[in-house]
Amino acid sequence: MTDRLVTANIKLASPDWEMGFQVGVPEAPIAVTELLPLAQNLSNAIVDATVQEIETRGGKISCCKGCGACCRQLVPISDVEARYIAELVESLPEPRRSQVKARFEDAVKRLAEAGLLEKLRQPECWYREGYREFGLEYFRQGIPCPFLEDEACSIYPDRPVTCREFLVTTPAKNCQNPATETIRSVKLPMRVGPALAKLGTRGDDPSEAHWVPLILALEWMAANPNAPPHRSGPDLLGDLMRHLTGKELPPLAESEQMPPSQPETPN
Ligand code: SF4
Ligand code: SF4
Repeated sequence: MTDRLVTANIKLASPDWEMGFQVGVPEAPIAVTELLPLAQNLSNAIVDATVQEIETRGGKISCCKGCGACCRQLVPISDVEARYIAELVESLPEPRRSQVKARFEDAVKRLAEAGLLEKLRQPECWYREGYREFGLEYFRQGIPCPFLEDEACSIYPDRPVTCREFLVTTPAKNCQNPATETIRSVKLPMRVGPALAKLGTRGDDPSEAHWVPLILALEWMAANPNAPPHRSGPDLLGDLMRHLTGKELPPLAESEQMPPSQPETPN
């Protein structure tokens, strides 16, 4: 028997672009991680539309493959992505799994030696206030992301939404010595990363964003092995869209087949 699916027609709009698409989610309870592919597609579409607009106006994005200075930055990700990243590492074949785990362990050791680990473990202490200073201190350690290989992301299709949503228009060489005056990042009209971080997977205040530093994803998973309770697809999608746009989802329709979830080209 086919699982019952529900669909929603979603429109996203910024001052510069509009896009519409149909998404489908199971009506039954699902794991929050099952919503991630949809969230990643949304993020990709918002980034693509914004980049297209910048380029139409003659601007240029500096980011490209093989340019990985930013992959030494502090990368905050949502609980759901921390779980996804930890599961992804566990699914890697050997010896790659052990190599990647060793890089995580080495990074954590270096952060402890630098005296940053305890603060890093408390995002509530650095995410809102002092983020810039703490982020620069982290960057100065020169610790590469465990997934960075030959200055390129080795999990590119699965990379966190935070990585997808960070782009700059300033010269790439400026990223090797980042400062407020030398880095101009692209301002997205809406960001999926914070919306995911508010999905309330810790079961407390659902409007509060919860962050995990990417570098501590494995440690976080070890301390939080139990996945949050499954929730119905429409509930999860509704929360994600509310956190992303501030609006309620339009009415959902039942469907027996998964419809396309790729956004249309913006106009
Ligand atoms: S943010 Fe900077 S270092 Fe990262 S890809 Fe873009 S230009 Fe390169
Ligand atoms: S996950 Fe990939 S894109 Fe993100 S910081 Fe790591 S290497 Fe860079």
